[in-house]
Amino acid sequence: MDGISPWRPTMPQDKLLLIPGPSPVVPRILDALALPTVSHVGPDLGHDLKEACENLRKIVFCESGEPFIVAGAGTLAMEMALLNTAGPADRVLVISQGYFGDRMAQICQAFGVGHDVLACEWGRAVTPADLDRRLKAANYNVVFCTHVDTSTGACAPVEEYSQVLEKTGAIFIVDGVCATGGIPERMDAWGIDIVLSAAQKCLGTPPGLAVLVFSERAMEKRRALAAVPAYYSDILRWLPIMHDPSKYFSTPCVNEIRAFAEATRIIIEEGIEDRFERHDLFADAIRSGLEALGFSFFTDARFEASTLSVVRYPDGVEDKAFRAGLNANGVVVAGGLGPTAGQVFRMGHMGNLTSAQVRFAIEAVEKTLAGLGLSIKAGTGRAAVDGILTA
Ligand code: PMP
Repeated sequence: MDGISPWRPTMPQDKLLLIPGPSPVVPRILDALALPTVSHVGPDLGHDLKEACENLRKIVFCESGEPFIVAGAGTLAMEMALLNTAGPADRVLVISQGYFGDRMAQICQAFGVGHDVLACEWGRAVTPADLDRRLKAANYNVVFCTHVDTSTGACAPVEEYSQVLEKTGAIFIVDGVCATGGIPERMDAWGIDIVLSAAQKCLGTPPGLAVLVFSERAMEKRRALAAVPAYYSDILRWLPIMHDPSKYFSTPCVNEIRAFAEATRIIIEEGIEDRFERHDLFADAIRSGLEALGFSFFTDARFEASTLSVVRYPDGVEDKAFRAGLNANGVVVAGGLGPTAGQVFRMGHMGNLTSAQVRFAIEAVEKTLAGLGLSIKAGTGRAAVDGILTA
């Protein structure tokens, strides 16, 4: 990764996009997106799709699973995971720590899938002990959790959930939309049956793809369901295309898939474990910079994800004025979702970010606070970041 050259916008409208997804897209991926559109059943797409699938399996540590890369976004991936594993005889447990866990409950409702919700207060995650208690009280065939809920910044203890689930035989679905490629998801070692994700966050591609990997057990479960209430979302219709794109089901989004293949190459080149470490390091650096500038954090420190921060304002700083000022200083962040609206801002720090961009962001925050009339010693935020980042 380029960690040395200082990052500055090149055009007045060029802002550093630090919302919690989409993340900034690097030129190599944009160039791949702009390649000429080729036949969706031809060898160029075939080559890129095959490589993207192989790399995706590596990214989620799944030796023999089946990847699916389909035009859509994270919500389609959620629907595909559910509809291909939960039949009429099944009961689903939705573990929810926020807005996106609740979304899975809404999808269950929309399709009439029997489900219960195990929720917790916003800002933390359901504990493995909470899950164990629930599993002793009722039987579930499918269990869903959100790895990182983008509304709260809380990261679920997925590995520990797997250990609790091991005895139950339930299909375990993990929503990695705000985690895959930034935080470990070791499918084989942890016994995860499906990782579902989207192109636009830690994977670093523009929005436009639903991305999933099904374990062999999840594939068996799909095959055991006679029919599913889905057509485009039926993975058995996509499976032949994923193996051989010269076959046709529905026209794959050629350019987006080629860009995604490039995005996965970048991840493999960086090194998957190194990429996880970089996400941890950048999260530490950004949080120490923000803390030095007087901000605090919404998420319970035991559950903080390395992919985004949900940030409370210092006294006297108003949400809209701060975000507008920060935008004018070149950085785009998101407001709070649901009950946190107006009280926090959400800053994504995932994907192909550089240390130069981290420094630029904290300097922009400092400049914004100064513009709002707060008295801060110049260089405070940057000094805190430099205490963590060596390059
Ligand atoms: N799950 C999580 C954890 C998310 O953060 C999001 C999007 N922010 C989604 C699901 C839905 O993804 P999409 O907006 O791509 O449909």
